Order: sequence, then structure tokens, then C-alpha cells
Amino acid sequence: MRLLVTGGAGYVGSVVARRLRAAGHETVILDDLSTGHRAAVERPDDLVQGDFGDRLRVGGLLEARRIDAVVHLAASCLVGESVADPAAYYRNNLERSLALLDRMRQAGVLRFVLSSTAAVYGEPAALPIDEDHPTRPANPYGDTKLALERALHWYHAAHGLRFVALRYFNAAGATSDGALGEDHRPESHLVPNVLRAALTGEPVPIFGSDYPTPDGTAVRDYVHVEDLAEAHLAALRRLESRAAGESFNLGNGHGFSVLQVIETARRVTGRPIPVRPAGRRPGDPGTLVASAQRARRELGWAPRFAELGAILETAWRFLRQHPDGYSA
Ligand code: UDP
Repeated sequence: MRLLVTGGAGYVGSVVARRLRAAGHETVILDDLSTGHRAAVERPDDLVQGDFGDRLRVGGLLEARRIDAVVHLAASCLVGESVADPAAYYRNNLERSLALLDRMRQAGVLRFVLSSTAAVYGEPAALPIDEDHPTRPANPYGDTKLALERALHWYHAAHGLRFVALRYFNAAGATSDGALGEDHRPESHLVPNVLRAALTGEPVPIFGSDYPTPDGTAVRDYVHVEDLAEAHLAALRRLESRAAGESFNLGNGHGFSVLQVIETARRVTGRPIPVRPAGRRPGDPGTLVASAQRARRELGWAPRFAELGAILETAWRFLRQHPDGYSA
């Protein structure tokens, strides 16, 4: 297929684009490079630098490149930032995505894979979280993704848009060859921060030690970025055979606390990792652990990286190869 991959210069998007190409698809990457990196686009000719909410630009691409489906990863995705500036999140994630969908409809492109999030659930009422769990986002980030998923359901009913929404739990790790990985500026995610602390000796903050979890720190389900990429491929296959719109959780089904991540990183790197206690980050739920049974059953998806140590090893390799990020 000919695929438009928005956010294909970003952390997850670059790995997804690589996987889609390896499976024989053609990719056009639309990225404004606000947080993505030119160097994360492995085939420079694929990159179109631009805004996915720019109707004119997107319309031209969909038609000129005869796009069959859109894989939409471009978004603002920081919980804390969304709490501080909700308007930016509703504009970037919802309003611009609706503009993209309008243009797709006009161009007759009716297949869509959405990068969604576990943040649609909010504070869990039961664990592990399956797709039938109530959706009560605890922050604007999760709310914008949920609103977009809901819009997709109605677009499906009204216009026959086929979609799969992939609700990632915590994306982590890097490609096994160490070429593509996480490089946000500034970096706010736990795994790269912990590994950087191993490299520099700068203490990593622990946001909250008073959660109702075994050691008091927040628990997350870390899923390898290459496993996420594989699910996008499965989602596209699903869209060929199924007309319906569906949402799937993507996670390993195992929760690790912030302290467990740090301990595992000490083992993987063989280095001390200094920490400093810090207050809770607004909008952060205490525990998020996935049941990904539906993806396993319906998409035939099975994560290859089940071990946190193996996930961290790939991220550590990326950091060692790119100590200054993609600029190096
Ligand atoms: N976290 C932390 N120190 C950091 C970065 C993150 O303690 O330097 C915590 C954060 O509060 C959350 C967990 O680690 O409980 C995972 O955070 P991350 O930003 O990686 O992903 P999120 O769950 O927010 O998508």
C-alpha cells in the first residue's frame, strides 16, 4: 500500500515507518519536525516537512501520491504539558486531526490507523486494563485521544471510515540495531532519563513515592517500540479484511514501578544511577497495566520483548551510539 505516516520522524513513528517499508509498503512521511528529527527518517526522500492539519498540503499529498491509508502518529503527547496547556492539546491533537480526516474523506482515503494511548482510561478501576474498562481520562492528553477515537466511530458510521486505534501503554526501547530510538528535547520520559543518569551521573527525579503501589512509586507497562511497530502492520492488515472501527490495547501485561525500572537499569548498564525524590507529576495515574488479549486474539499480535531488561538494553545501545541524540 501507499501510506501517509504522520509523525514518521518521531520516536515511535520512525520505527513504524521502517517496519512498514520492510513489509513492502511505500511510505510518505509527513512531519513538521517540531519534536521529530530529520535524521530519524531513514529514507530522506520520503520526508515531507509540514503540518498534518494543513488541508491544502495534505489534500495535495493524498491525491498526488495516491495514498491508500493514513497512519497517524503525529501528536503532542506529554501528560504534564497537557495539564499546563490544554488548549494546545485540543488544537494539535483534535482540531488538526479532524482537518486531516476531512481531507481524507474528500480524497476518498478511508483507512486510518491511530496512535492512541492508555491515558484514555485514567485512574484504573480494575487491573489489568482491557478495552471495556471505563474511559475517564485524568489529563487533557488522554482526553484529546479519546475524543478523536470517538469521532472516528461516528465517521465510521456516517462515512464508512475504517480505523484501528492502538492504545499504547508505555513505549520504550530502541531498534535492535541501535539506530532509531527516543530523543525528546527536553526529555521527560522515564527510561531515557534513567539511562542518561547512568551516563552522566546526574540524579533522576522520582515523581511521587506515595502512590498506592508496593513501593510507593508509579507502575507502568513498558512495551518495546518494535513490538508497537509490528502492531501497526497488523492493524493495516485488519483494515483490509474488516470494515469496522476498533480499539486495541498494546502492552506486555506486566507492571514495573519507577524504582524497579531504575534497579533494572543499574543491572543493564552496570553503573550507579543516582536518584532524587520529587513530588507527583500532575495528571499521572498511579498504575497502568494492560490486558492486550484483544490484540493478541484479533490482530495475532504478540510482543517479542517481554523482559524489561531486554527492552532497556536496546535503549542503552541507542544512547551509547547517540550520546548527544540524533545530532551526533
Ligand atoms: N517518571 C519519573 N521520573 C522521570 C520521568 C518519569 O519518576 O524523570 C515517572 C512518571 O511520573 C510516571 C512514569 O515515570 O509515573 C512513566 O513516565 P513517562 O513520562 O516515561 O511516561 P507516561 O506514563 O507519562 O506516559
